[in-house]
Amino acid sequence: MIVVFTGGTGGAKLIEGLAAEITPAELTIICNTGDDAVFHGLYVSPDIDTIIYTLAGMIDTDKGWGIKHDTFEALKQLDRFGAESTWFTLGDRDLATHIMRTKFIGQGLKLSEITDRFRRTLGVQPRVLPMTDERVESRLETPEGEISFQEFFVRDHWAPDVTRVRFAGAEQSSPAPGVTEAIRRADAIIIAPSNPITSIGPILAVPGIRAALLARNAPVVGVSPLIAATAISGPAHKLMVSCGLTPSALGVAQYYAGLMDKFFIGREDQGLASDISARNINPLCTDIRMPTAASKRHLAREVLASIGK
Ligand code: GDP
Repeated sequence: MIVVFTGGTGGAKLIEGLAAEITPAELTIICNTGDDAVFHGLYVSPDIDTIIYTLAGMIDTDKGWGIKHDTFEALKQLDRFGAESTWFTLGDRDLATHIMRTKFIGQGLKLSEITDRFRRTLGVQPRVLPMTDERVESRLETPEGEISFQEFFVRDHWAPDVTRVRFAGAEQSSPAPGVTEAIRRADAIIIAPSNPITSIGPILAVPGIRAALLARNAPVVGVSPLIAATAISGPAHKLMVSCGLTPSALGVAQYYAGLMDKFFIGREDQGLASDISARNINPLCTDIRMPTAASKRHLAREVLASIGK
C-alpha cells in the first residue's frame, strides 16, 4: 500500500500519474482540509474534491479544479441576488457535491464517511481520507487582519503580505479514522508536490500525524513543488518566506527534514543537491513539471522506481 500526502492541484497531477501506473486500490490518499470553507451555506472541501474529481476522470484539467464542461448559471443567479463570496467560482454540477456534503453533515455524518461515499459513488478506487474529521482552518495574518486561505488565494489573488500562518483548531483535532493506521502499514509514503505551508503543513499539524511519520517503517519520498525560487504555480514560495523558510527546494527539504528520505527536485536545482544531502535526504534530480498526462505518468514511474515499485 502506498500512502500519499496531498493538497489539491499539484498533488492531483502526481496522483493521476500514480493511479495510472499501479493498481489504484493500492493507493491511500491523505488529503488536506485546511482550505475548506463555507460558501452560500454549503461546506466546500476543495482539495478532497480536486482529488476525487481527478481520480474519477471528471476534473477540468485546464483549471486544475472543478468539473470539466461545467456551467456557472447558479453562480450568476447568486450574484444577481447579491450573494456574498461569488468570487469563489462554483460550477453548477460541482454545487451538487457541496449540497450533498452539507446535507450529510447535517445528518451527523463525518467528513471521512461522506468522502468515502462520494468516491465510491464516482467509481474512485483509491481510499481518500481527510486528514481529520474536525475543523482545522489555515488562517493567514496580513496587515489588514487575519483571512482564510481562499480569501487570500482566490479573492485577493495572493497579493496581501502574509506575516504568519496558523492552523486554527489543529491542536484539538485528531487524525481521521484510518490515517495513522495507513501511515503505519504503508510500504511507502509519498509527499506530493503540494504547497508545503497550506497543503502539507495543516496535515502535519494534526496531532499524531507527524509522530506517525517520524515513527515510519516505510521510506518517505517527496516531490518539490518549487523550481529555483518559485512555485510551479500559486503562492507556495511567498508563504514559505512568510514562515521564515528559504523559498526553494532546499527550503522545502528543510521543512520536511526528519520526515522524508528521498526528494525529487528539478534538474535546474542540481546545485542544491549537496545541501539537501547534508540534511539526510537523498536528492533525485529530474523533470518534475507535469503539464501532460504523459509527464504525470513519467514522474509517477520515477517516484515508484525510487521506492522499489
Ligand atoms: P492546492 O490546494 O490547489 O494549492 O494544491 P497543492 O498544494 O497540491 O498544489 C499547489 C502546488 O503544486 C504549488 O506549490 C505548485 O508549485 C505545485 N505544482 C503545480 N503543478 C506542478 C507540477 O507540474 N510539478 C510540480 N512538481 N509541482 C507542481
